[in-house]
Amino acid sequence: MNSEKSAALWTEANRVLVGGVNSPVRAFSAVGGDPFFVASGSGARITDADGNEYIDYVLSWGPLILGHAHPAVTEAVTKALKLGASFGIPTEAEVRLGEVIAGLVPSIEKVRLVNSGTEATMSALRLARGYTGRDLIVKVEGCYHGHADGLLVKAGSGLTTLGTPTSPGVPAAYASCTLTMPYNDLDAAREILEAKGDDVACIILEPIPGNMGVILPDDGYLQGLRDLTKKHGALLIFDEVMSGFRVAIGGAQEHYGVTPDLTTLGKVIGGGLPVGAYGGPAEIMDHLSPVGPVYQAGTLSGNPLATAAGLATLDVLTQPGVFDQAVQAMTDLSEGLGAIAKKAGVPVYQTGLGTMACMFFNEGPVRNYEDATASDTERFARYFRGMLSRGVYVAPSQYEAGFTSIAHDSDVIEKTLEAASAAMAD
Ligand SMILES: *Cc1c(COP(=O)(O)O)cnc(C)c1O
Repeated sequence: MNSEKSAALWTEANRVLVGGVNSPVRAFSAVGGDPFFVASGSGARITDADGNEYIDYVLSWGPLILGHAHPAVTEAVTKALKLGASFGIPTEAEVRLGEVIAGLVPSIEKVRLVNSGTEATMSALRLARGYTGRDLIVKVEGCYHGHADGLLVKAGSGLTTLGTPTSPGVPAAYASCTLTMPYNDLDAAREILEAKGDDVACIILEPIPGNMGVILPDDGYLQGLRDLTKKHGALLIFDEVMSGFRVAIGGAQEHYGVTPDLTTLGKVIGGGLPVGAYGGPAEIMDHLSPVGPVYQAGTLSGNPLATAAGLATLDVLTQPGVFDQAVQAMTDLSEGLGAIAKKAGVPVYQTGLGTMACMFFNEGPVRNYEDATASDTERFARYFRGMLSRGVYVAPSQYEAGFTSIAHDSDVIEKTLEAASAAMAD
């Protein structure tokens, strides 16, 4: 595989961009080797600067559920661009995207559009605090909610002790407003809320974590959190930036029938353009300015290009049978990979729902962050390189989810499985 142009770009990139990238995981440090530079994408495939083609299971980290450069999205964005890129004045498309989101996500009656998932979770936390008049938040270990200060926190020495920053630059005072608990552990949630419940504004979690690999909730876990938060007057926030429109159209909340107070969204609702959103019942959302006192604003929020891409994506995705195509692709892929690993005698533990899945190089079961981090990352890195050299791009870390799109047809899956058979034997 020729990589001259990517290599040259990588050298230049490192001179001007920090670590050569604008988001750390892109540097491939978890798997070794240098990243390639992408030049274009179409459907399930991307082409790099040297003309090599790859089947893509990263899909811009989730948003591209219709595949790359879907004609409906390209057309909608082009049309919107010709009418003007941004106004900072209300536009019809914002109303329509709000209506579509409220119609599809069970917990959402009113929504606020922002520009990224990070912004959505950061703002939802402020709203939860403003609404409850409480300062503490509870997060789940291994869940990722973007890079806002109060979320870059790991556990203190015990469940009810204050968190400590995981990054320099995060004041200990911020971290001390965040408590953390393990996923799938209702007793831990109960203990925290019994000790600190009167000061807890919310529990925030990915209902199906996708940022420590993919992990599914035990039976009754999400409902248990729902009951506990109600009892203690804290809000429950589902961060469905990844799982929304991926595990089911209406997200994990629809699949499990558990309704949070607030929901954060991103990724798919922007169809590849920068978007985030958060929403909930009007009774809570109306605490936001301009109706209520909790401040949050954005120059580019509800941007015409982003709303056009989001609307086009959701329009195609909700046509009968379309979402199911992407689900079928993941089902076939997961079954095929499982059989290949078994045949090769490589222990793997597969998780996933809908169009989002993970194969842990781990005997399993994987129920939380501690289990996930016991995976054989060396073996994963070998698999990653084996796949890449055979033209299949999976996420460059064991702890990321894999995604399918409606463009991952049976031919794409078949080619992927051929590559996997060889890569598992490397
Ligand atoms: C990607 C992601 C975020 C952050 O979104 P950005 O758009 O990268 O800021 C937040 N929460 C979850 C669950 C995510 O997967």
